Amino acid sequence: MAYESLTVNRALGEYLISVSLREHEILKELREETDRRAGYAMQITPEQGQLMALLVRLMGAKRCIEVGTFTGYSALCVALALPQDGRLICCDVNPDTTAIAQRFWRKAGVDAKIELRLAPAKDTLAALLEAGAEASFDFAFIDADKPAYDLYYEACLKLLRPRGLIVIDNVLWSGAVADPGRRDPSTTALKRLNRKLHTDERVDLSMLPLGDGVTLALKR
Ligand code: CA
Repeated sequence: MAYESLTVNRALGEYLISVSLREHEILKELREETDRRAGYAMQITPEQGQLMALLVRLMGAKRCIEVGTFTGYSALCVALALPQDGRLICCDVNPDTTAIAQRFWRKAGVDAKIELRLAPAKDTLAALLEAGAEASFDFAFIDADKPAYDLYYEACLKLLRPRGLIVIDNVLWSGAVADPGRRDPSTTALKRLNRKLHTDERVDLSMLPLGDGVTLALKR
């Protein structure tokens, strides 16, 4: 079975954005500020953020968790889509990038919905499970250090309620996952996780060639 899909060249991509992107003014400001700094490639694309916001609304999600926050763009997308009593826990270890995140969350008036936990995500996830949060989350977003993706996936799967959704970023890794010669730790971890999820009976699965590749895993 050959893969066929529309090739989105620059002109078509710009068209897609021009007729579909609805980006909150403060999201745009945050994206532009992040683009001016190093590490901009770690930021999700705005159309990906818009899809996540739509999914959060579609599910009526109230309890969300994010592994890997960077400067807070994805968290802001999710928080803006959450109802007033919705909550998002953000896991990250970088005080500098998350200081930018917090500034923009305040500016957008959603900081009360977001709890930042500055600690290794594996510790935060373990602490939540320890505290009895199993099966209490609706939505999880994983976008952090790739070698630990499988650990994050397993912990998030436990934290989600049945029919809760995990969104995983960078699953196509600029195409490296399809290159048998690429054996670096990040690529290897992503290849393994992608293969594992293909036959993982605990979830319904869809992989989208959006941004750097996005997996949707719906807990059964
Ligand atoms: Ca990413």
